Amino acid sequence: MNPSPVRAAPAAHPPAADASGAPRSPAAPLTPRRLVLLFVAALAAAWPFLPEFSITLLNYIGLYALVATGLVMLTGVGGMTSFGQAAFVGLGAYATAWACTSPVLAGALGLEPGSAALPWIGLVLGIALSFCVAWVLGAVTLKLSGHYLPLATIAWGLSLYYVFGNLEMLGGHTGITGVPALSIGDLSLASGRSLGVLIWAVLLLAIWAMHNLLDSREGRAIRALKSGRVMAESMGVDTSRQRIKVFVLAAVVAGLSGWLYAHLQRFVNPTPFHLNIGIEYLFMAVVGGAGHLWGAVLGAAIITLLKHQLQDILPGLLGASGNFEVIVFGLLMMLVLQRFSGGLWPTLSAFGARFVRTPAARPPAHMAPLPRRELPPAGRVVLEAKEVTKRFGGLVANSEVDMTVKAGEVHALIGPNGAGKSTFFNMISGVDDPSAGEVRLMGRAMTGHPSREFAALGLGRTFQHVRLLGQRSVLENVALGAHRRGHRGWLASMLRLDRAEEAALLAEARRQIERCGLGDCADVPAASLALGQQRIVEIARALAGQPAVLLLDEPAAGLRHLEKQALAKLLAQLRDEGMAILVVEHDMEFVMNLADRVTVLEFGQVIAHGTPEQVQADPRVLAAYLGGDELLGKVA
Ligand code: ADP
Ligand code: MG
Repeated sequence: MNPSPVRAAPAAHPPAADASGAPRSPAAPLTPRRLVLLFVAALAAAWPFLPEFSITLLNYIGLYALVATGLVMLTGVGGMTSFGQAAFVGLGAYATAWACTSPVLAGALGLEPGSAALPWIGLVLGIALSFCVAWVLGAVTLKLSGHYLPLATIAWGLSLYYVFGNLEMLGGHTGITGVPALSIGDLSLASGRSLGVLIWAVLLLAIWAMHNLLDSREGRAIRALKSGRVMAESMGVDTSRQRIKVFVLAAVVAGLSGWLYAHLQRFVNPTPFHLNIGIEYLFMAVVGGAGHLWGAVLGAAIITLLKHQLQDILPGLLGASGNFEVIVFGLLMMLVLQRFSGGLWPTLSAFGARFVRTPAARPPAHMAPLPRRELPPAGRVVLEAKEVTKRFGGLVANSEVDMTVKAGEVHALIGPNGAGKSTFFNMISGVDDPSAGEVRLMGRAMTGHPSREFAALGLGRTFQHVRLLGQRSVLENVALGAHRRGHRGWLASMLRLDRAEEAALLAEARRQIERCGLGDCADVPAASLALGQQRIVEIARALAGQPAVLLLDEPAAGLRHLEKQALAKLLAQLRDEGMAILVVEHDMEFVMNLADRVTVLEFGQVIAHGTPEQVQADPRVLAAYLGGDELLGKVA
């Protein structure tokens, strides 16, 4: 395509910043990775010498940050708000406290009471419990949308709290004392200083794994959840499954934090697992920067230190004792959220970007080949609608619409606004089910199947209202389209075993971006492009899935004349390669010059069908387009 759309690249883009002459030494540029290593090395070096009190604070910051990283994945990245994470911390803590102190368990396992193995059995129990409880709660509540999901998290957060407080075997409101210290072999982790090493090691490992997860095909799928189900499902993502998995991940890290907490504190009672604390965890994630893993550490540190300081200072200032810190704390939170709606981390990292250089991604050693689809022979019907009817209450948006799309043709669907074109698109792409009639894709009956199965069979689509992840790069957006062509799952991504496949997916995405003429924009955020170009990004995203059928809803809207010509050229080329293309478009010149067949809808009914010439001569079509001047006038 025409390379003219390229001017939108913003100056803030990392490679552009690289070229600027910011002060940095060429020998050892400060990269994000080096910065993290520096932080870890400084923490490790200072650890033996820090005063006991600082160690205690750092331990709590580490524990809270672990929970908050889970919330970053769940809320910041996945878009699901949970107030109930403290309950999962409680599950982890109570599981190990009970395992370590209950004579029943030790007896059943044939272990001495107080055996050093019990805390590790407690760990397994805690993780298994948070995993299962989260899975069940997730399956029940994650279907809820809007405000109902956060309300549900409050409900089960409270329920679990009362379970902890009322179960006799968990010690009621007094809780369980005598939780032993951890030990690894002969190494005792009884002191805060030694256990803290484990706490921070677990935290850093968790951040590493989650960072890897976000930087993968599964990570793109998780990010896509935030923009709603329709887009993600159309890219072939099983959104219900991804939502549950993120929810379980957040619960398991919370449970892990609870396990460590119990062995740090050496006793447990219900108080730290109350809803209040659940809200505080959410604050940490949001204040730090809900979309950023390191924001969780920042948020945990700020809130822990702030609370501590306020508890010390306020009673002195006000001359009375009481929990004044809660009030000041609430006011401060409001202020922060008002001033830094994306959290503090983005502000901090924008400042840091002057000194830190993000290196260009290195080309990988080798790429795994991606599966390719055999396209059906030209002329074969690949998509078929039979008497498709859609009613919205009393309104009939589609009435017994028949249509076929064949491999190697461009079929245009036109009609005045409100004629039912977008509704029909939703019917034939699985977004919505017809009230009556049948949809067949590649010869299979698809009525009632979700859109990800349409995607799996080779249907790619764009949306009338562009659905991109605006803050992510064009490359990442397009790579999401290739989701179904990769197979590596969560664990492989977390452990970075997916690199060969990931490289192939990104290379495929880049190839499609270049093919669509946006090669120079691949690394800029999608939202920085003009709307017309964003439509082209959607086409590239659909092409990355190597579709056999391409559905385009008003692809030329917002494009300039030359860009339209380039788009027409691209679509003609795809048709020649054997793709079946169905396009809804208002620009008659564009449609009539490109399409092999045209179907005209009015008030949900097909009023004409045939070649562009036949359709333009049809009196009903001319009448539908109010005198027809518009239709004919544009087609010179
Ligand atoms: P087009 O894309 O041709 O402009 P649409 O398919 O968007 O038309 O709309 C067709 C008709 O169906 C319109 O009258 C619209 O108001 C109605 N409609 C579309 N979606 C819904 C919905 N979800 N609920 C109720 N009415 C709808
Ligand atoms: Mg429409």
